Amino acid sequence: MKAEKCPKCESNELGKGKHSGYGVMFPVDKMSLGSDIEYLICTSCGFIN
Ligand SMILES: [Zn+2]
Repeated sequence: MKAEKCPKCESNELGKGKHSGYGVMFPVDKMSLGSDIEYLICTSCGFIN
């Protein structure tokens, strides 16, 4: 069981995102093409884990 939360603001509203190669983060749900590097992004403060 994972208890992932933001180390910055301690929100547990973390979403997965990935780098498009242009320095822009997109939610995986909307950008499901390909399988690049994925990140966990805090949806509260935008901190990238
Ligand atoms: Zn945060």
